[in-house]
Amino acid sequence: METQIFRVTSEKDEAIDRAAEILKKGGIVAIPTETVYGLAGNALDGTVTDKIYAAKGRPSDNPLIVHISDLAQWAPLVSEIPEAALALAHKYWPGPLTVILPKSEIVPDEVSGGLSTVAVRMPSDEIARAIIEKSGVPLAAPSANTSGKPSPTSAKYVIEDLSGKVDAIVDAGDCSVGVESTVISLCEAPPRLLRPGGITPEMLTEVLGEITVDDAVYNKLADGEKAASPGMKYKHYSPDAQVIIIKGSFGEYKRFIEENRTEKTVALCFEGEEKELPVRAVTYGKRDDSSDQAKNIFDALRRVDELGADKVFARFPETDGVGLAVFNRLVRAAAFNIIEV
Ligand code: AMP
Ligand code: MG
Repeated sequence: METQIFRVTSEKDEAIDRAAEILKKGGIVAIPTETVYGLAGNALDGTVTDKIYAAKGRPSDNPLIVHISDLAQWAPLVSEIPEAALALAHKYWPGPLTVILPKSEIVPDEVSGGLSTVAVRMPSDEIARAIIEKSGVPLAAPSANTSGKPSPTSAKYVIEDLSGKVDAIVDAGDCSVGVESTVISLCEAPPRLLRPGGITPEMLTEVLGEITVDDAVYNKLADGEKAASPGMKYKHYSPDAQVIIIKGSFGEYKRFIEENRTEKTVALCFEGEEKELPVRAVTYGKRDDSSDQAKNIFDALRRVDELGADKVFARFPETDGVGLAVFNRLVRAAAFNIIEV
C-alpha cells in the first residue's frame, strides 16, 4: 500500500484531521507521542488491531496499550477504576504512564493479547491527543517499529520500518522522553511495576506507597517462564550488531576496548568520551543525565547499525530514577550480556 506522510508542527495543522479521518475509517497511522512513535488504530475493533500486529510483525500474545485523550474514555474500557488508579491519573496524566486494570467487554481480545486486563495511558503530546480526540475512539498504539528493533524516536525510523505497510505516518520531529511509558499493574496488591519509563519508581511510590518491581525488569526470564508483561519475554530493541555492556570506570572501559577491538567495533559511550577512544563511537547522552540518555538511547542503537558495527561495547548507565528505564532497554538490546571489568 502507499503510505502518506504528513509533516506537522502543531496540533492545529489540518493534516491532523486527515490522519484522524483515516483512523475513523479503520486505517492504521503512525503518530508521534512524547515517549516514542506509536502505530495507532481503533482500539475497539479487533480487525483494525490485527492490521497493527501484521504491520509490525508483532506476536499476537503481546498486548497493546490503549491511548485516550480524555479521562471519560477510561471507565468504559475497564471493569472499575479504583482510588489508587485515579490518584495516579490525577498526578501523572497526561504523561508517560500506563495503568493496567481488569478490562471491560468492549476491549477486544486482540488488544489484550487474550489477557483479562487492559493497559491504558493518556499521552502528554498535544499532537497525539488531538489525533485521538478527532478520531473519536481510543487508539491502540504499540511502538511504531518492526517488532524486535529499537523503538523509533523520530519519524525517519518509522519510515524505514513501516513504509508501504501502514496508511500514513505523521512526522512531528523527535520525541521528548525517548523511551516507552512506565507500565504499572494495579491488578494486584501491592501494585507491580512491569516496565520502567519516564515516570520513576520513586514517583509511583509517592502516590501508591509500596510497589513491587517485576523480576523481568532486571533479569532474563528463564525458558518457558510466564511473563507478567508479555512484551518482556521477547528479544527486544536489538540492533543487528551484538551489544555487550561493559561495567566499570571509564578507564577500565577504555582499556577493555583497546584490548578487544576489531575493525568493526563501535563504542556506545557518553558524550565527550568518544574523543578518548581508539574506535568509532556513537554517544547516548550526557554521563550524569539519565533523562538525556533516555532521549538518545534508541537513536544510538539504530546508528550503530548504520556504521556497520559487528560488536558494540556499551557504557553501563546509572540505574536510579529514569536511569532504570535506560538500563532496562540497553540490557535487552544486549540480550543481558554484561561484562564486569
Ligand atoms: P509497546 O506498546 O510496544 O510499548 O508495548 C506495550 C507493553 O505493555 C508490552 O510490554 C506489553 O506486554 C505491555 N502490556 C500491554 N498490555 C498489558 C497487559 N494487559 N498486561 C500486562 N502487560 C501489558
Ligand atoms: Mg514496542
